[in-house]
Amino acid sequence: MSRYLGRFAPSPTGDLHQGSLVAALASFLDARHHGGSWTLRFDDIDPPRQEAGSIESITEALLRHGLIADGPAQFQSNHSTRHIEALDRLCDHGVTFVCRCTRATLGANGACIDDCDDQSHSEGSIRLQSPEGAFPDFVDICSQQRTSPATYPANFVIRRRDGLLAYQLATAVDDALDGFTHVVRGGDLQASTHRQLYIQQLLSLESPQYGHIRIIKDHHGNKLSKQTGAEPISATDPIANIRSALAQLNQQTPPSSCQSISTLLTWAIANWDRVSAKL
Ligand SMILES: [Zn+2]
Repeated sequence: MSRYLGRFAPSPTGDLHQGSLVAALASFLDARHHGGSWTLRFDDIDPPRQEAGSIESITEALLRHGLIADGPAQFQSNHSTRHIEALDRLCDHGVTFVCRCTRATLGANGACIDDCDDQSHSEGSIRLQSPEGAFPDFVDICSQQRTSPATYPANFVIRRRDGLLAYQLATAVDDALDGFTHVVRGGDLQASTHRQLYIQQLLSLESPQYGHIRIIKDHHGNKLSKQTGAEPISATDPIANIRSALAQLNQQTPPSSCQSISTLLTWAIANWDRVSAKL
């Protein structure tokens, strides 16, 4: 079997909720089912959105659910040197520009539609040009379908106006440079995958394989997330939480004989079916 290095990469912006448990479990089961390793990485490069104590609380919740990573947790904030190097290389390619637009004047998909790319602004966000056809297709390892981007924004932010590196750049660089081979994550990130593949291609980095799983929605049809007010998962019944997450991932129902986290996860690893979990 070829090498498999997987990861779960939450942002420490609050407690683990059922939606993030589903994503963690999917990446864990996919890695373990394929004999791979599984790393926990905190995507902690957005201090204004971070919540004190959430690194500890997410770590503890994962442990309580038996989702034990190989090796110590990684922190994206430790990688700022290579993020800046990647930013500089993209700027050297001549495919970036400084944008001064405000949120109110941006076009569809948050693209700059003003003439910032013809100006030489000294201050603003740094954007990467992404003309139609720029984003690579990929074969999703869950759906096993070739996936094309739905839209091509003319450009997108790789360094924010406040100087912080954008998620797309940091994650594209870290996933590639840390040698992750498989990224299994929520279907809401499929559009990001095309952007991240594009960044990796421009930087001549090796890309992981990507798979996208169904996402849980609340009764208003919104993705279950901290932003939509999802409740932290209950600490009292991790077995019920895992059973519910398996159902949400469209997996077979584990037998009632699985009465501990350990027997439940062993069963779930053996019976994991990534195609059923597809977006
Ligand atoms: Zn602009």
